[in-house]
Amino acid sequence: MTLRIDSERLRSDFEAVSAFGATEDGGVTRPTFSDAHLAARAWFLERGRAAGLETRIDAAANHSAVLPARMAGARTLLLGSHLDSVVSGGRYDGALGVLCALEVLRCVQDAGLELPVALEAVDFTDEEGTLIGTLGSWAVAGVLSSEILSAPRGGRDVLVSELSRMGLTEEGVLSARRDPASLAGYLELHIEQGPVLERAGVDIGIVTGIIGASSFRVVFQGEARHAGTTPMEVRKDAAVGAAAFVLGVREIATDDFPGTVATVGDIATEPGSYNVVPGRATLRVECRSLDAVELDALEQALVERAGSDAAAHGLGVEVERLGRSEPAPTDEGMRLALERAADGLGLSHLRLASGAGHDAQALAATTPSAMVFVPSVGGISHDPSEHTRWEDCVNGANVLLNAAVDVARSSG
Ligand SMILES: [Zn+2]
Repeated sequence: MTLRIDSERLRSDFEAVSAFGATEDGGVTRPTFSDAHLAARAWFLERGRAAGLETRIDAAANHSAVLPARMAGARTLLLGSHLDSVVSGGRYDGALGVLCALEVLRCVQDAGLELPVALEAVDFTDEEGTLIGTLGSWAVAGVLSSEILSAPRGGRDVLVSELSRMGLTEEGVLSARRDPASLAGYLELHIEQGPVLERAGVDIGIVTGIIGASSFRVVFQGEARHAGTTPMEVRKDAAVGAAAFVLGVREIATDDFPGTVATVGDIATEPGSYNVVPGRATLRVECRSLDAVELDALEQALVERAGSDAAAHGLGVEVERLGRSEPAPTDEGMRLALERAADGLGLSHLRLASGAGHDAQALAATTPSAMVFVPSVGGISHDPSEHTRWEDCVNGANVLLNAAVDVARSSG
């Protein structure tokens, strides 16, 4: 039997949550622990209570509404996303997933279904990175460490003062880990934030995984000389090596590692004057892949290319690694459940990788996880003009509902 969500109830919730931190241009500003964020979270728990659900807040400030299983000791299927936003963000990013999760719990309850696992709709703390980024989901997955807490993205002072203002402690946050044996999996609905589904005219995206990224700095060292008096054949021009490398990065990703992406996003030459041959060029490079082994190989190929370009142009080269996030493939069984749900609803679907990070990336490390994407109009996100057609929101919610019931039933 195919279940359907209550579109009107979901819509009125969506309008209500969009009012917290609403900006004049139709977006929202709800950074972590801002007044608007806290109000949205309190409202979410209130909506859960109003539906007769249990509510809880864990030591990482993750907010949950829970539909318990009849049997004591049953595992929990997590559903969720995040209510925080970037500054001047859109209304759909994160919030839609949290509200759809809540709607799934209400529908299962309304239908009187008895599932062998508990269902929990979670609003994860700080997905967008005001403090750390995916703080709440990292905490639940047990991948948060004191090292990460010691050098947070938003600065150490901000983290310390914000945790204390909220009555949270670092020990507490680290203790919010959930025992993987207590979890039946994690499903997240999110807007695509890219143009693939809209361009393909497809209703639903089944996420194959969240791609990993590696970034590094490449410095080409040449000789700064007078641009008028230095003959071309004796120059050691760092910008020429850099230019060859930029084209090489594109060629390697396109020809040798199809499906991956690699970008030189930043180039600076020194001394940076039109009448001096550049003595030094500093580039920042990033590459991404869904497969950890492929990401290693791509990284290696790019580093080797920097070396050969330097040699070809008589330059020295140094490479410094800046950071890496590991790819997080989703669970095949969960993907199939999402596809069965879409088929049952007569919705078209395709598989795609997520180029953006999500809470599911953290959860995938600890429990079978998957994501469903709904189309983003124009592929726009992290902007007030972010939009998903309501019909698409409802389609996604229905897929989440039927997949959650399917996964829950097979988890008994
Ligand atoms: Zn998001």
